[in-house]
Amino acid sequence: MRKPKNILVTGGSGFIGSNFIRILFSSDTFKSVEKVINLDKLTYAGDLKKNSVYSDNPKYKFIKGDICSEKTVREIINIFCIDTIVNFAAESHVDNSILHPDEFIKTNILGTYNLLKLFNNCDKVSMNKKIFLHVSTDEVFGSLAKDENAFDEMNRYKPNSPYSASKASSDHLVRAWSKTFNLNTIITNCSNNYGPHQDEEKLIPKIIKKAIFLEKIPIYGNGENIRDWLFVDDHCKAILELILMGKFGETYNIGGLNEIKNINIAYKICDLLSELYPIEKNTLYDPSNTKICSYRDLINFVDDRPGHDLRYSINSSKIKNELNWLPSETFETGIRKTISWYIKELSI
Ligand code: NAD
Repeated sequence: MRKPKNILVTGGSGFIGSNFIRILFSSDTFKSVEKVINLDKLTYAGDLKKNSVYSDNPKYKFIKGDICSEKTVREIINIFCIDTIVNFAAESHVDNSILHPDEFIKTNILGTYNLLKLFNNCDKVSMNKKIFLHVSTDEVFGSLAKDENAFDEMNRYKPNSPYSASKASSDHLVRAWSKTFNLNTIITNCSNNYGPHQDEEKLIPKIIKKAIFLEKIPIYGNGENIRDWLFVDDHCKAILELILMGKFGETYNIGGLNEIKNINIAYKICDLLSELYPIEKNTLYDPSNTKICSYRDLINFVDDRPGHDLRYSINSSKIKNELNWLPSETFETGIRKTISWYIKELSI
């Protein structure tokens, strides 16, 4: 088993990155890690509050900066003798990529290139000790029809949005650095994550927050789009396993075994909220408004977005067979934890 010592986590103040550092610090197998550097530009999606539970750990260091900056990345890699990079930093919201693709091209493609180039060229750590784990998405595979087989690692890349195209491009760069320069790389293509600290622009936190504040819950199109949902802690644990034992030069699909239609996600959240925070106890509830008698009444279908993929489904057999990894949360248990966290977070 590998023993990483100095880990650079990029985008560690975002949703998955911040949870990943928490899980890493709580893992016995990673006790020998000496330093975890979090390099984050703190865009609208990054927030230091997400790192608060471990920010005083002497092994942890936050550096505000851009993965596209040669100077910043070179200094970090050299000064801290980085042997492992886990690259979460990205522009990650599809809607934003339709309106403003520039930042997606810069961060997701050029930023990944910058990390690969500088990490590969650094001579502080021997090549056989270096690990570059690139966190990508199932969206690179495009969309599935309802009856098609789930994506496995052999699926063609067919990205449909500027976001997924930029992630696909970065995956190709990572592959090239493995094949051409023998850099030890691993790519993960993961399904939709949910859990604490997710930005409210994403489907699940948006539904939870809109419902709690008794605002309309927007659902694209007819709500028939299907995603495979994975609780964020399970994703983070899979990445830790891959750092220790994944095969270099390989890609791994990671899924939650939870294919659900968006509209059913909305119903599930509304129903659980009715149990955990009954609408009659909601301080914003107005019994004289007969149009809103339950959280479900807030659901509101809106125009679909362009290039909206119908279905993603992930076949995670490879990581299961090679590393015995399976998600430990069902959607039922994970979404309960998530809703309870948001209720606490919003101090209700
Ligand atoms: P996020 O948007 O919550 O966080 C991204 C983080 O990256 C933020 O903290 C932001 O400040 C930082 N960042 C952005 N540009 C940067 C730059 N140029 N330099 C340094 N830091 C920068 O994203 P997330 O949901 O945590 O996703 C993390 C990664 O996982 C992304 O690469 C995404 O493509 C991938 N992914 C996400 C999901 C999901 O459901 N959220 C699913 C599969 C894969």
